Amino acid sequence: MRIEQGLVHGILCACLAAALILASSCAPKEPFVEETFVMGTAAWITIHGLSAREAAEAAEEAFRELHRIEAVMSTWKKESEISRLNRESDGTPFKISRELFHLLERALFYSHLTAGAFDVTARPLVQLWGFQGGTAHLPDSHEIEQTMQRVGFGKIMLDGESTSIIMPPGMELDLAGIAKGYGVDRAAAVLKGRGIESALVNLGGNIYALGSPPGEKGWAVGIRDPRGGRDIVGSLVLSNEAAATSGNYENFVEVEGAVFGHIIDPRAGRPVSNVLSVTVVAPTALEADALSTGFFVLGPESAGQAADLLPRVAALFALPDGEEILYRTVGGFGERLSLREPESR
Ligand code: ADP
Ligand code: MG
Repeated sequence: MRIEQGLVHGILCACLAAALILASSCAPKEPFVEETFVMGTAAWITIHGLSAREAAEAAEEAFRELHRIEAVMSTWKKESEISRLNRESDGTPFKISRELFHLLERALFYSHLTAGAFDVTARPLVQLWGFQGGTAHLPDSHEIEQTMQRVGFGKIMLDGESTSIIMPPGMELDLAGIAKGYGVDRAAAVLKGRGIESALVNLGGNIYALGSPPGEKGWAVGIRDPRGGRDIVGSLVLSNEAAATSGNYENFVEVEGAVFGHIIDPRAGRPVSNVLSVTVVAPTALEADALSTGFFVLGPESAGQAADLLPRVAALFALPDGEEILYRTVGGFGERLSLREPESR
């Protein structure tokens, strides 16, 4: 997890002096917190304002929704819809569920917006470089070129009427850069549907902040050190919005002394090496997830141009500068971001 739920500050109780006597009446009600493991990562749900029993039921339903989505979207599950598509699609129209169709439409939207930096067809390249079940080795340029022929969002076609996809043989989809965000939005919708007004959903650093904790402006979430340490380098305050971080520090391979991260530039066929992490704030967790991966590939200049086209989207880049880290923001964070280190321009 890259964004940690920060220390959620308790309400400052006005009658602090009398706390010992009045502890039960003036202490803030502790939120309900439940954790599970799904989609290959840890998931937390924090809920305010419900009895423990009601909150546990709500969290359980939201977790069930995440497990359901994993069963459809995960390439690690052989029987998922996406795995079946990857295995069986032969270049003729392949019927898919409305849900998968809708997610692929969103994925293509972000591919267009990022000029192909975000691309769910990158799976053959992702595997070539040793991720998603591939074997880590240093591919030569011939291998890269060959593999790139099986990559490119422009080569797939969606047909809305029959909810089918046409994908040339040899191509495969990988939803790892967008499905967790989608899941977080669905989980948040489950909680909202139960009338919950204050909750935080965190799936491996993909976050949706519903409302705010009682008496607070928003949910405080910490941004972890982009080099992978436990330190918090800054924090966000979020309310009715989402955040996601893409980084190279948790998922990388080492080949012949060189380290490669899991985010691939589909246009170059190679892992991105000049960014440490990108944290995106956006109205939905799906958007934050897709953009954090896409912006990681684009870099701050082009990401800034893309962010300007999107309402309420901002991104924090951590860039390597020798032993130091440069922080740069694109889009407007306003009051939502505080950094320990000053931002560089
Ligand atoms: P994580 O899945 O660790 O939360 P991301 O959301 O950034 O991180 O997604 C990265 C994953 O998405 C990679 O592990 C890989 O499976 C896939 N991927 C890699 N490069 C791209 C890309 N350019 N566009 C879309 N997906 C990608
Ligand atoms: Mg992502």
